[in-house]
Amino acid sequence: MAKTFHSYNPVNNEIVGTYPAMSSKDVAAAVAIADRAFPSWSQASARARRKVLLEFSALMLKEIDQLADLVSLETGKPHSDAKLEIALAAHHIAWAARNAESLLRESRRSPGLLMANMFVAVERSPLGVVGVIGPWNYPVFTPIGSIAYALAAGNTVVFKPSEYTPGVGIVLADLFARAANDEEIFQVVTGLGDTGAALCTSGVKKVAFTGSTATAKKVAALCAQSLTPLIAECGGKDPVIVASDADIARAADATVWSAMSNAGQTCIGAERVYVDEKIADIFIAKVVAIASEISAGDPSSANYGPATMPTQIAVIQSHVKDAIKKGGTLALGSLKSIKAPFVQPIILLDVPENSRAITDETFGPTLVINRVSNMNEAIALANASRYGLGASVWSRRGGRAIASELNCGMVAINSTISFASVASVPFGGTKDSGYGRIHGPEGLLEFTYPRSVVRARFQMPLAITSFNRKNSTDRLIVKVLKLMRGRLS
Ligand code: NDP
Repeated sequence: MAKTFHSYNPVNNEIVGTYPAMSSKDVAAAVAIADRAFPSWSQASARARRKVLLEFSALMLKEIDQLADLVSLETGKPHSDAKLEIALAAHHIAWAARNAESLLRESRRSPGLLMANMFVAVERSPLGVVGVIGPWNYPVFTPIGSIAYALAAGNTVVFKPSEYTPGVGIVLADLFARAANDEEIFQVVTGLGDTGAALCTSGVKKVAFTGSTATAKKVAALCAQSLTPLIAECGGKDPVIVASDADIARAADATVWSAMSNAGQTCIGAERVYVDEKIADIFIAKVVAIASEISAGDPSSANYGPATMPTQIAVIQSHVKDAIKKGGTLALGSLKSIKAPFVQPIILLDVPENSRAITDETFGPTLVINRVSNMNEAIALANASRYGLGASVWSRRGGRAIASELNCGMVAINSTISFASVASVPFGGTKDSGYGRIHGPEGLLEFTYPRSVVRARFQMPLAITSFNRKNSTDRLIVKVLKLMRGRLS
């Protein structure tokens, strides 16, 4: 009999569903089906793909309550948070659908003087079957950032959802199948890590992975065996910089939400704050006041739910312990705030920069606030991380200048996480936060390859690519290049 696994409600550990733990053979079969669907999907008109994807987006919104129920059951997040996540995912699908044709249109290029007889263009072609591997923290929004853009560019998809949220993955494929009236274009394979590993070596033409940096390294090693290209969207340790001219009330409110919502399980959530010492006391007082008013508990009534992954509790505990041991102080909460599966808000102050709460992704409702004497120090500390996913800057006048110094993929000024909801900008990180981009034009281009097409419109009297080439031709080319100082266009 085929192996199975369960997904659980992290609030009470009850089984939500039972799913096949698919073998590499099952994965190969799913990839073969998606491969069979590739010619017709990739050759369909852009308008036809757009229609299907817009219907996919509409269906998702039509059935948002049912899907949010399932997201809430499998992750433990409040229904309203699940709804917001799904609504934003539907927005991304619609954006990719509406913009793929114009953004992936053939682009004409200049042939230059030497090749003036040529028509020159670059076409963008879909890759084939794309393997998408997703995490559990935003089980709709995050994988859709790859799936929708890959499909809009003409690829077919095999999706491996997290073992914590397999039911959500299956519903996504089902919604698409209904929109497309086709069950082959978008396949789902359920299972544990082995199933994801099998997808990496299945012959897919690209892997779009979202998850931890540690797993991304394993995925990259598997992909390297067949030179399968990879997008790696990994973890973060996002800094928040609060300057002395910041709107302190707004900065405090948004930072608490960014750090604590979804139980702190947001890759681009605030994890560490560098606040100018001139306003630090008042900022800290506001943060503590706001965080004191929120609590973890049953998602039907609390501000946020449990840690979705039971093993994360020990990680959160170890970061808090280490921060206190190294000299950090508690402004709110304590180790007693951690009672599995729930973690109440914890605010730590003046935590040494070599603490795990600063160097590693905590992925819990905790926030470190450290004082800095100026913005140069804040920038240097923000950049000292091995991660480089997102960042927030709060400053009335100097936001752009500070943002431009940060080594990370995305910066929000006087707002938090806002770049994820804007479909026209790319999403991704630097350093250990990964490489490649989803969302926006760059996200569409990731799922295509460029093909250069150069066509002779007429023959030039100078034969360059011929054994009949004369010395005088060589001399002429060098002379022209010298005259034009290397330019030929
Ligand atoms: P993991 O790295 O544990 O897992 C991610 C996915 O990889 C899951 O589907 C997992 O399957 C699968 N997987 C596990 N082992 C392998 C393997 N050897 N080969 C291939 N696939 C494998 O991450 P989490 O699910 O715990 O997600 C949380 C992490 O994701 C955090 O670090 C967070 O920051 C990051 N993240 C990054 C985002 C970004 O866009 N940069 C967005 C959202 C989250 P299984 O679950 O079955 O083990």
